Amino acid sequence: MRAPRRRWTRAVVTGGAGFVGSHLCTALIEQGTQVICVDDFCTGSPANVAHLAERDGFTLLRADVTKPFAVPDPVDLVLHFASPASPADYLRLPLHTLEAGSLGTAHALALAREHQARFLFASTSEVYGDPQQHPQNESYWGNVNPVGPRSVYDEAKRYAEALTTAEAGVHGVDTAIVRLFNAYGPRMRARDGRAVPTFIRQALAAEPLTVTGDGRQTRSITYVDDTVEGVLAVAGSELSGPINIGNATELSMLELARLVIELCDSPSRIHFVERPTDDPSVRCPDIALARDKLQWEPRTPAREGLARTVAWFRDHPEA
Ligand code: NAD
Repeated sequence: MRAPRRRWTRAVVTGGAGFVGSHLCTALIEQGTQVICVDDFCTGSPANVAHLAERDGFTLLRADVTKPFAVPDPVDLVLHFASPASPADYLRLPLHTLEAGSLGTAHALALAREHQARFLFASTSEVYGDPQQHPQNESYWGNVNPVGPRSVYDEAKRYAEALTTAEAGVHGVDTAIVRLFNAYGPRMRARDGRAVPTFIRQALAAEPLTVTGDGRQTRSITYVDDTVEGVLAVAGSELSGPINIGNATELSMLELARLVIELCDSPSRIHFVERPTDDPSVRCPDIALARDKLQWEPRTPAREGLARTVAWFRDHPEA
């Protein structure tokens, strides 16, 4: 991993017991930063950070960030990742998702302000909605249906970006916004509804892979180690963002499904099903900003990252 430009003494990671958050906690601990992981386990689990439990400097705090929360020690970095993130989760938890983006972000910002810590908000490519500009750069404002089923997530993130920007202007909080594009890797949940774990679960069970629509819709998938490296590069910089962190190599859902079948050495076939409402037809980041300012770009080819992810799912049938 490239050396971050700043070193932190102690970081708060909200949502640290989730998929991306747990990898972030691990990377911070590995580089010598103490970590307070704050999570209510609504979609995450203590099992995701069990490997850190005995490590010096790691604290797991059960708290719901939609309520005011405090941490036991001074911190110099707040990484706000707490939010249901997969469509299955935010459709099941619509109000909690809106509150994580609104109240949760306000409380995480208040913590950063109180501790004079740098604050980084985990936003999403979903702020671009079903984009009319392709690929999407950070100056594109997006095409989001404010009352569609996905709006609880998309609009919460858009509001949280606005709140983060306003806090920086009004209270001088040192803030950054990253827009993450479809991270994947170990510790995803097999039934969280996202394409990668769904396809792997189906392929390992020799079931048909359910590709929505005609499968020509694209996503850019980023191996989680690359995502974490990008997030820490932004945290360690002076940049406020928003900055796209994703893979500029586009993959159609059909290509992804075929690759998973091959890597799982599975007899599964592909079964086409209806596309969900407001499902974006293309999604690919323009990452010129991260390349130019941070010398960051993803390094893990899809075939390699997916092979590692398949291996993890084989070892964790309970996931
Ligand atoms: P995840 O569901 O695995 O992790 C989210 C974590 O936040 C979970 O541990 C959950 O228990 C916790 N959480 C949710 N609401 C909370 C609350 N009110 N209080 C405390 N903890 C709470 O999802 P993920 O994929 O790891 O996503 C993490 C963050 O990154 C989210 O904010 C998500 O929007 C953002 N993001 C992720 C991706 C991706 O591809 N994984 C893409 C874009 C943005």
